[in-house]
Amino acid sequence: MQAGEPLVPMQFSHPPLNYSEVKIKVACVGLCHSDLHLIDGDWGDESRYPQVCGHEIVGTVVSLGSQVTRFEIGQRVGVGWQAASCLTCEWCLGGHEPLCQEMQSSCSNGQIGGFADYFVCDHSFVYDIPAALESSHAAPLLCAGHTVYSALAKAPMRAGANVAVLGIGGLGHLAIQFASKMGLCVTALSSGQSKRTDALAMGAREYLCTDDPDAMSRAAGTFDYILVTASAEQNWPVILALLRPLGELCFAGIPEKITLELANFVYQSQKITTVNIGSRKQMVEMLDLAAKFGIKPWVKKMPMAEINLAISKMRNNEAKYRIVLENTD
Ligand SMILES: [Zn+2]
Ligand SMILES: [Zn+2]
Repeated sequence: MQAGEPLVPMQFSHPPLNYSEVKIKVACVGLCHSDLHLIDGDWGDESRYPQVCGHEIVGTVVSLGSQVTRFEIGQRVGVGWQAASCLTCEWCLGGHEPLCQEMQSSCSNGQIGGFADYFVCDHSFVYDIPAALESSHAAPLLCAGHTVYSALAKAPMRAGANVAVLGIGGLGHLAIQFASKMGLCVTALSSGQSKRTDALAMGAREYLCTDDPDAMSRAAGTFDYILVTASAEQNWPVILALLRPLGELCFAGIPEKITLELANFVYQSQKITTVNIGSRKQMVEMLDLAAKFGIKPWVKKMPMAEINLAISKMRNNEAKYRIVLENTD
């Protein structure tokens, strides 16, 4: 009801569907860090209280607008972070829908997200879920999977390129799996040793502990691409030294503030890039890839009734590696 408060049940009804909308009965929804930011009001006006979060939504179609022919009642579908765009501007037409001026997320700026029993949005941002994916696995793919796939898909890399994924959490644990299935040679980077075994099981060839100065200096100059999925502070000069000439450092996580020495970037012709969520096309490709190669988020399922407990687990970094809330009936 207000910033930072525990969530409480609330009754409301959706307005009647317009001609292009789909109404989905939510079966499960992943819990993402962006939900916490919206609950806490970290992004200013993007939160509107009562704020209903949830943007990794899987459920079944219960009603369709008069002109929606792509879906059938009862079909299993999903929705990620983006719920609408104009579909006609240069960005939409160019396959960059997240850049549209009319971009609407599925749970900010007053949109009622997937923590509700039912979710409504335009059919253009509703996706069929491949049969091979379990609903609880599909949910985290719709935001976390989409984001890391979009980063990896646009990186100019040859098969076998040396890729590092920095941070093993909701995003990182999927980035390791996608990168490895995409034929890249993946090294997982994290502090301490507690995630080493998990990272290797996810498909990393190597694990590199960022607290180990000897290991970090041995790895200097060896990576073509580093995907940063952590938002925690890092020793950036040491991370940057890991890049090869022409290498790229791409931010999917958003550290509050970083200071970078640019001279070496220039001398080595290296790049710093960022990634938002992906396009609609990349969503379809990503779900297909996950289904074909058996990419599965590591999820902890919890009943929707325990959502406040789930949120506190996520705040305490106890979610290994994604919590999915399930509706029971
Ligand atoms: Zn998200
Ligand atoms: Zn547009």
